[in-house]
Amino acid sequence: MIQTPGAGRYAPSPSGDLHIGNLRTALLAWLFARSTERRFVLRIEDLDERSRDGVADAQLGDLCALGIEWDDEPTVQSRRTHIYDAVIDDLTAAGRTFECFCSRREIHAATTAPHAPPGSYPGTCRDLGEADRAARRAAGRDPAIRLKSDTDSFTITDTLCGEFTGAVDDFVLRRGDGTAAYNLAVVIDDGAEGVDQVVRADDLLTSAPRQAYLATLIGVPVPQYAHVPLVLNTSGSRLAKRDGAVTRADLAMVGVDDTRLLSLLASSLNLGTVGENLTANDVLRRFDPARLPNGPWILDPDDLW
Ligand code: GLU
Repeated sequence: MIQTPGAGRYAPSPSGDLHIGNLRTALLAWLFARSTERRFVLRIEDLDERSRDGVADAQLGDLCALGIEWDDEPTVQSRRTHIYDAVIDDLTAAGRTFECFCSRREIHAATTAPHAPPGSYPGTCRDLGEADRAARRAAGRDPAIRLKSDTDSFTITDTLCGEFTGAVDDFVLRRGDGTAAYNLAVVIDDGAEGVDQVVRADDLLTSAPRQAYLATLIGVPVPQYAHVPLVLNTSGSRLAKRDGAVTRADLAMVGVDDTRLLSLLASSLNLGTVGENLTANDVLRRFDPARLPNGPWILDPDDLW
C-alpha cells in the first residue's frame, strides 16, 4: 500500500496579530513537519467570537515573510459548520450526546467533587427526561450539546512532555448559539486534513486528552503530539501585546527586521545565534528536537538587538 505522507499544521485564531511567541510556535510546527517529510497545512480557527476580519490575512503574511510555507489552501473553520453538525448528528444517533441547559455560573456552582478540575461538568443535564428538556427549552434556554463521555481521564503520549493523563468530562461539542466547540472542530479538521502531528503551545496540553478521546470515538487516528513551551515576559507571565514590541510589525518599527526576527527565534531554539543571516530552510537543516530547550523562553526586550 502506498502511504501518503501525514501532515503537521498550524492553527491560528484570528483574534489579533501573531506575537513572537505565536511565530515561534508556528516555526516549530513547520520544522517538526518538514523535518519528518510531512505536508504542512494551515487552519484558520475563527469560530471564536473574538475573531476579527482581516486578521487571518495578516497572520498568513507574517508566516510567509519568515519563510514558513504551507501546502494547500488554508482551511477556514467558519465554513465547515455542516461538517461539524454531521459528526454531532452521528454521535447523537449513537447515544453519545445530550442537551445541556446549564449556564457557566451554574456549572461552577455545582462542581463540588473534591478532585474535579474547576469548571468540569458535574453531569446536571446528562440524564434529563424529555419533559424536563422541553420545560427548559420553553423557558427560553438554547441547549449546548455535550459529549456523553464514558471515562473521566485519558492518556496521551507527547514527544516533548512524555505520557500525560488528563481529565475528560462531558465536554461541549456545540455551544448554545449553534457554534461548534473548539475541541470538536479541531479533532474533525485534523482528521479530515490527514494531520498526524500536532505541534502547539503547551497551554493546550490539558486539552489533548479530551481531543484524543474524542478522536477514538469518531474513528480518527490520534495524532502524535508535541506541546512546546510558551514564551514568557521577564515577570514570568505569558507574553502579551502589552509587553511592547512583540508582533512582527511592531518589531519592524523598532528595527528588528525579518532576518533578525528569524535569528532570534532560531537562537531561542538553540539553532542559531542572534544576528545571524539565516533563512527558515537554514534553520530546518539544523533542526533537532533533542536540542530544544526544556523550559519556556523568557523574552527580554533588551535582548532583541
Ligand atoms: N487556535 C488555537 C490557538 O491559536 C490553537 C489550537 C490548536 O493548535 O489545536 O491557540
